[in-house]
Amino acid sequence: MSEHYTLRCRECNRDWGNRPGSICEDCLAPLEVKYDLDAARASFTRENIARRPASLWRYAELLPIPAGYRPEIPVGMTPLVSSARLGAQIGSRRLYIKNDAVNFPTLSFKDRVVAVALTQAKAFGFQTVSCSSTGNLANAVAAQAARQGFDAWIFIPADLEPAKILGTQVFGARLVRIAGNYDQVNRLCSQIGERFHWGFVNINLRPYYAEGSKTVGYEIAEQLGWHLPDNIVVPMAGGSLITKIHKAFQELIALGIVESKTVRFFGAQATGCSPISRAVKNGKDEIDPQKPSTIARSLAIGNPADGLYASRAIRTSGGWSEDVSDEEIVAGMELLATSEGIFGETAAGVTVGCAKALIAQGRIQTDEETVLCVTGNGLKTTDALAGRYPLEDAIEPRLAAFEKFIGQTMAVSAVS
Ligand SMILES: *Cc1c(COP(=O)(O)O)cnc(C)c1O
Ligand SMILES: [Zn+2]
Repeated sequence: MSEHYTLRCRECNRDWGNRPGSICEDCLAPLEVKYDLDAARASFTRENIARRPASLWRYAELLPIPAGYRPEIPVGMTPLVSSARLGAQIGSRRLYIKNDAVNFPTLSFKDRVVAVALTQAKAFGFQTVSCSSTGNLANAVAAQAARQGFDAWIFIPADLEPAKILGTQVFGARLVRIAGNYDQVNRLCSQIGERFHWGFVNINLRPYYAEGSKTVGYEIAEQLGWHLPDNIVVPMAGGSLITKIHKAFQELIALGIVESKTVRFFGAQATGCSPISRAVKNGKDEIDPQKPSTIARSLAIGNPADGLYASRAIRTSGGWSEDVSDEEIVAGMELLATSEGIFGETAAGVTVGCAKALIAQGRIQTDEETVLCVTGNGLKTTDALAGRYPLEDAIEPRLAAFEKFIGQTMAVSAVS
C-alpha cells in the first residue's frame, strides 16, 4: 500500500493496512486511521488550504482519500456564526455556533462521514453501501449513494421521524424498518455485513467514516483564524464525533498549524439516553448500556461504540458532560430559533440545553470562547414541536379584517 494512511489498532498499535473492518483481530480493540504527519507537513499549510475549494476536501492530507480519487460532492465548510444573542440568554459573551444544520447535501453532519466512507467503499470495490442509522446517516448514505451510483440498503428502527424516513426513500434507497431500537438494528447489521459483501459505512468502514467527523474540528480552527476555542459542546450518540474533533485539534497542534492548547470538551446527551454522560458524572470511562427513551432520536444509542474514548477525551480535557430532559430539549430548540434564527433538530436542543446548564454550573465561564455544535436540521424533527403553535382562524383578505385581528392580538398580549 502506498497510501498516506493506514488502519492501526488503538490499543496494541498494530498496523492493518487498508481494508474493510473496524476491529483489531489480535486484541479486539477498535481500529483507527493513522497518517504520516511528517509527510503531510510540507503541503498541509494555512496558505495552501486557503487556496483550495470551500469543502471538507481541502483537508485531504489528513483524510483517508485514495490517491487519484476525485471528490464529486462539496460537503462541509458550514458557517461558524458568532451568537451574541443566544450568548446573552445563556450567559456567554463569546459564543459561536458551528452550523451543520445546513450541511450539503442532507442537512446534518453525517454528510461528512459518508463522504469520506464512500471514498473507501469505491476503493474496496463495494457496489452496495449500507448503514444502521438513527436517521441522519440514512439520509446522507441514500443521497450520496445516488449521486455516486452505489446501490443503498438502509436499516433503521421502525419508529423514526417521518421526515427522516421520507428523506431516505426519496433517493431511491432500499429502506428496511426493524421492529427494535438502534442497538438491535446495529447488531443485525453486523451479522448482515458478515454474510453480504456490502460496505456498511458505520460498521466495516467505520474507521474511515469516523475521519469525516474530524473536519468539523479543522473548520472551526480555520474559521476562528487558525486558533482553538476554550470550550466546545458536542452532542453525543455513539461518541464518535466528539472523539474525532478532539483528534482533529491534536493533529493541528502536532503540525504546528495552531498554538498548543487544551480545549475543554463538553459532551451533551438526552437524559433518556445518557450512557456517556452517566459515565463521566460517575468518574469512569466504562459505559453501562441503557435502553433509550427520548425525543432526541438521532442521539438514541444506548450502547455507544466510542463511548469509552468519548468519556476519556472529555475527562482528560478538563471538560464535563451534561444531559437534559425532553422538555429542556424542546426549550433549547426554541431558544436557538428565537435568538439566532437557526432551526436545529432535537440534537441541537440537547446541545443548547446542556450548554445552558454547564454555564449555570460555572463549568463554562462567561468570558471564555465557546463553540456549540449544531449537527442537524429542525425541519427533520418537526414532530418534537407538534401542537406547540396552534393556528389561528384564517381571516378575510381585507384590511378591516386585519385591523380587527391585530386589535384582538394586541388586547391578548396586553393581558398576558
Ligand atoms: C449522529 C449524530 C450525532 C452524534 O454522532 P456520534 O458521532 O455517533 O456521537 C450528533 N448529532 C446528530 C444530529 C447526529 O445525527
Ligand atoms: Zn490490537
